Amino acid sequence: MGRPWASLPYQALEGSLQCLAVAVIIGLLVLVLAILMAYQRYVAKKRPVQHLCSYCGRLVTAVSDCHHAPVKEEFLHGVCQECKNDCRLVCSTCKRPV
Ligand SMILES: [Zn+2]
Ligand SMILES: [Zn+2]
Repeated sequence: MGRPWASLPYQALEGSLQCLAVAVIIGLLVLVLAILMAYQRYVAKKRPVQHLCSYCGRLVTAVSDCHHAPVKEEFLHGVCQECKNDCRLVCSTCKRPV
């Protein structure tokens, strides 16, 4: 310990490096979190809404009653992606209203 001043700059450097490492780790965590949230939102938007069909007795995807095509679902009805008209939602398996 003959020169206590000699270790000072090194300690300061080490301290700032640790600060930098912590900042980078926190930044990465925030980034990962943001990506996860964006991904979840993307998946939730993309995933078709499941309906409980009383005839099939299980969760099914809904299709339009006019073309049996995928629908853009709105409250209590949908827009057929085939003819772009209003349609009712029917079960994709048994074609009965859900
Ligand atoms: Zn069904
Ligand atoms: Zn249609």
